Amino acid sequence: MTITNAQPEEREPGLLHRSLIERPQKVISGLGIYLTLADGSRILDGCCGAAVSVIGHGNKQVQDAIMQQYASIEYVHTMAYTTSSAEELADALIELSKPFGLTKAYFVCSGSEAVDAAMKLARQYHVENGQPQRKRFVARRQAYHGNTIGAMSVSSNLPRKIPYDGVLTLDNVSFVSPAYAYRGQRDAETEEQYAARLVQELDDEFQQVGPETVIAFVAETVGGATAACITPPKGYFEGVRKVCDRYGILLILDEIMCGSGRTGSYFAFEREGDVRPDLVTLGKGLGGGYAPIAGVLISEKVVHVLKRGSASFVHGHTYQAHPACCAAGLAVQQIIKRDDLVAKCLSRGALLESRLRSVLGNAKYVGEIRGRGLFLGIEFVQDRASKQPFKPAVKFASRMQEAAHSRGLAVYPGSGTVDGVNGDHVILAPPLTITEEEVEEIVRLLKMAYDAVEEALV
Ligand code: PLP
Repeated sequence: MTITNAQPEEREPGLLHRSLIERPQKVISGLGIYLTLADGSRILDGCCGAAVSVIGHGNKQVQDAIMQQYASIEYVHTMAYTTSSAEELADALIELSKPFGLTKAYFVCSGSEAVDAAMKLARQYHVENGQPQRKRFVARRQAYHGNTIGAMSVSSNLPRKIPYDGVLTLDNVSFVSPAYAYRGQRDAETEEQYAARLVQELDDEFQQVGPETVIAFVAETVGGATAACITPPKGYFEGVRKVCDRYGILLILDEIMCGSGRTGSYFAFEREGDVRPDLVTLGKGLGGGYAPIAGVLISEKVVHVLKRGSASFVHGHTYQAHPACCAAGLAVQQIIKRDDLVAKCLSRGALLESRLRSVLGNAKYVGEIRGRGLFLGIEFVQDRASKQPFKPAVKFASRMQEAAHSRGLAVYPGSGTVDGVNGDHVILAPPLTITEEEVEEIVRLLKMAYDAVEEALV
């Protein structure tokens, strides 16, 4: 799944790339929705890497904010010191999250670290709440939460997990079905019935492992990397919240990919009814790619217990709440607010979705077009009627990525394995600043790419 240089240089690179054989394309600059490659060609960034660059590339205001931070203080250790950037970023996020009971923010450098921190906060909450017997997590199949040991343990991205499974993963995690209507909802079932069945499955899992032993249920609100933008059925997260509450189990929502406005509300869970998560992780759209920053938003319920208990979070990284990263994050969040990008995301997302449906909706190998806001996935199947996926050797998603790239469009490919079924997909997640003309250009290029892939397979 690496877009490689057509003519690799002779010299062996010092940098360890994802592939030890092929080398990725070198990008020399970026502006707005476009990237410029070393050979001078332009790529329309239809996926922002992995749904990262929410305000697009090359934003001068963010660059200036970072430089200003460096001009005053580049680094302090959070054990003894803080900075205005970190405080103001936290306040900006808490202003958005307070109506949902989230009152503190904790910053780290990557999404995986944020998930690990949330898992540790959840464990510490129970220990200090007099329930140290809670030692288990329940997560979902078809989920991706990151690559560190904690985050990988609650993930089910099998290609990334298999070499380490059972050696570098926790054995106190069990899994339930994803909310994946395309493959999970039965023909005779309404959306609400499907949601109720999934909630019952979660309840059964809690019963099976002993609800008094469970720390938290971990889920992406809208499933991303291994699932391609699967949105939950109506009532699902409200039901999940009720079951968690029944047993005193915390709810961790991972919004690293789907949060920060990407789905047309700042938090994806805002569209799920009355759902108040205990911990929420944010990442990609937090720094918009301008700096490595991710975070955890923590509910007052958790904060209260820790305050009353040890009065500290037993955790820490040297670079947590790094001043330059927080300055970048703050500037990105200010731009999202100033330019009303969350509302814009909703309208541009609706346009992109409807244009994709009209151009690709009936295509031979398109199984489903789904998602929310500017977070849209297309799942490809060999047979639309039976939903039979392509054999992995066909590498349909990689073919799509390559065909799109060679026509000047970046898309994010993937294949998820759920209950033994391997499905190819691509994700579209352009900047929230995208114009209507750029939406049309994505659709035009993607259709050309798809047609080429379809033709090559006939
Ligand atoms: N959680 C979700 C939902 C993600 O999509 C990702 C990355 O794709 C992560 C966590 C891990 O984030 P990072 O790659 O920044 O460690």
